[in-house]
Amino acid sequence: MASLKGKVVLITGASSGFGEDAARLFAKEGCRVVLAARRLERLQALTNQIQKDGGEAVAIPVDVAERDEIEVMVQSALDVYGQIDILFNNAGFGRLDWLENLDPARDIETQIDVNLIGVIQVTRAVLPHMLKRRSGHIINMSSVAGLIAAPLYTIYAATKYGVRGFTDALRREVAPFGIKVSGIYPGPAATEFSQHIGNNPVKKSFNRFNRLSMTSEYVARRVVALAKSPRRVVIIPWWYRPAIGLNAVWPGSVDWFMNTFFTSKNHKLQMD
Ligand code: NDP
Repeated sequence: MASLKGKVVLITGASSGFGEDAARLFAKEGCRVVLAARRLERLQALTNQIQKDGGEAVAIPVDVAERDEIEVMVQSALDVYGQIDILFNNAGFGRLDWLENLDPARDIETQIDVNLIGVIQVTRAVLPHMLKRRSGHIINMSSVAGLIAAPLYTIYAATKYGVRGFTDALRREVAPFGIKVSGIYPGPAATEFSQHIGNNPVKKSFNRFNRLSMTSEYVARRVVALAKSPRRVVIIPWWYRPAIGLNAVWPGSVDWFMNTFFTSKNHKLQMD
């Protein structure tokens, strides 16, 4: 396992959840962390806390749906620390509902802009600097929803499948230049994610399912471990792997399962 001491880590979505916990853990490893998200006051509080604990951090406000703001964020990070060694593309949210209920702008376009185009544009802005130095590690946050697409997750799954395709293609594109690209695919974890999914009754079932969920810190620890020992893919928890395998080789069985235990019953409620 490589030491991370002195590495500069740019984290999008660092104001809560996985990004916030990852920032703390990377700082404990001796990394210099660049915290990016929209809620500057939260980033500043986290920066102060990291500095109080003897770490190095800087807060930069960004909306990853805005290309100009991404350019400013990356330039500011380079101005402060001179390099970016690790990019954790983590910002994102999910609006979970029947497709016909989703708002075309807020729930569809913005979700794609943040979760997929944001990841692509932030990577594109950082990559030239990594290419110049012939080193770097890009860690993209996908989801189990990027491997198994569930009803009510249409747009979210589209973005996370998109992140998977982008991650795999980029990994093969930049490997010869010493740059590593990894995808991380967590199942449900307790963060602020569930506060943003909307008001559909699925929220209740999501919260019920959350009893099985991982802690945010556990996911963040796996991100730091991934930075120390880069791998192509991390799927957590491990017990999603058989379901993912089944979905790949026998998707009809997963269709049957979801239809029988979820869609038929709930879609009837939706149509009534
Ligand atoms: P949180 O809601 O706790 O964190 C989401 C982060 O993304 C926040 O820091 C938020 O900051 C940031 N963000 C949202 N929109 C934007 C934007 N337009 N520009 C910049 N930052 C933005 O949820 P999680 O920690 O759970 O989510 C992190 C990632 O993990 C997401 O990509 C999510 O899809 C993924 N994921 C989550 C799972 C879960 O069950 N929790 C499971 C699998 C994957 P701010 O509002 O301040 O901008």
